[in-house]
Amino acid sequence: MKIFCVGRNYVAHANELGNAVPQQPIIFMKPSTALTTDKQPFFIPKWTENLHYEAELVLKVKKNGKAIHPDFYRDYFDEVCLGIDFTARDIQTRCKEKSHPWELAKAFDQSALISEMIPFDTFLAEGGRFSLERNDQVVQQGHINLMIFNIQDILVFISQYFTLQMGDLIFTGTPAGVGQVLSGDILKGRLNNQHVFSCRVK
Ligand code: ZN
Repeated sequence: MKIFCVGRNYVAHANELGNAVPQQPIIFMKPSTALTTDKQPFFIPKWTENLHYEAELVLKVKKNGKAIHPDFYRDYFDEVCLGIDFTARDIQTRCKEKSHPWELAKAFDQSALISEMIPFDTFLAEGGRFSLERNDQVVQQGHINLMIFNIQDILVFISQYFTLQMGDLIFTGTPAGVGQVLSGDILKGRLNNQHVFSCRVK
């Protein structure tokens, strides 16, 4: 099982970190050991001073695919969930300055939190919105229509380079409002009005 992530897929988020809006999707990966759920607490790693949440819509791949034709992209997923791409922003900034890879900042244990899956059609029919609350304050709000590269673009692009396999997950990028996570926080996620996870931060 592989976890793909799309970087800078919302204009307002690219702007808030001072990054240019990309011309093609920015793709990175996390190992399967990064996966976690809200069934266990999230532990902030000791080696970061600035851990950030990034709430993202996540697709679950339902069949294997290589070089997916744009007309058939919809055959490759049925379910979505809300995830958090936990990011050690201090480490990432250092990696970017040195033009080093991002894995230490993005791919560590527990860095990919996911909620339960819901049908994609239900998610769309109910509005296509998602949000994250930190200690009962809404900090991020996203809408599927605000992605720079939509789901079709993402599936077509990734599958030119990698064989997608059943069960792979794709984090589709975070909207504006990323920020620091502190010990004691409760992070709550919603898809439209449906509460889908509640994560305790230690
Ligand atoms: Zn992200």
